[in-house]
Order: sequence, then C-alpha cells, then structure tokens
Amino acid sequence: MSASSDPNCIFCKIAAGQIPARKVFEDEHLIAFHDINPWAPVHVLIVPRQHIVSLAEVGEEHAELMGRMMVLAPRLMRELGVSNGFRTLINTGKDGLQEVMHLHMHVIGGPRPWAKG
Ligand code: 5GP
Ligand code: ZN
Repeated sequence: MSASSDPNCIFCKIAAGQIPARKVFEDEHLIAFHDINPWAPVHVLIVPRQHIVSLAEVGEEHAELMGRMMVLAPRLMRELGVSNGFRTLINTGKDGLQEVMHLHMHVIGGPRPWAKG
C-alpha cells in the first residue's frame, strides 16, 4: 500500500500546490500539467494525487484510477487543440527510464514538422 503522499516527491509537491506547474486539469483524483521539458508542442503529464511509485506498484484497487488517467488523455488533447493524434507513454522503473518516482503518464501531441508524413 502506497502512502498517499511523500514529502520529498516533486509531483506530490506539485499536487499540493507547493511548487508551481502549468496546470491544465485537476480534480480530487488527478492533476495534469505541462512537462517542464517538452518533447513536442503539447506535452502534458497526467498524475494521480496519490503517491504511487510506478506502474509496477499498481494493483486491482487502482483500476478505476488508471481508467480515469486514460479517459483524461483524449479530453485534454481535444481541449489543447491537438487534432492529428498523440502518444501516451508510461515509463516504469530504472530499465523503463523512469526518472520521477511517482506514477505519471506522458501525453504528447501537436504538429511536428520534423516528423515523417
Ligand atoms: P519520466 O522519465 O520519469 O517518465 O519523466 C519525468 C518527466 O517529468 C520528464 O519529462 C521531466 O521533464 C518532467 N519533470 C521533472 N520535473 C518536473 C517539474 O518540476 N515540473 C514539471 N512540469 N515537469 C517535470
Ligand atoms: Zn509523489
């Protein structure tokens, strides 16, 4: 069972409003904000308020929360004007290249002139 928040965790601090972020959504379950180092014109992170370390710690009890994260992704892309598709990505653990150890989903979209097609 994860603690609901970790005082040393950067995403817990953003969720608590203790450090700033360019928020695009928040409710009692989730917060979403622009990535500080975007890979594309639109790059947001969808983050549960609860401090869950990674996708590897997710269990049956998180099924509804994980569904909320997935449902929020297309809604945010619509609201942010992304109309030609987007990527969703969850890095998990050391070999999964996860840097911030609080579960989050990258949602990445917007026109990329350098991309194929
Ligand atoms: P990971 O590799 O853990 O999946 O990605 C973590 C992401 O969080 C990175 O894309 C990084 O730019 C972003 N990030 C790290 N610290 C901050 C922060 O303080 N504010 C915001 N907005 N994004 C952050
Ligand atoms: Zn946290």
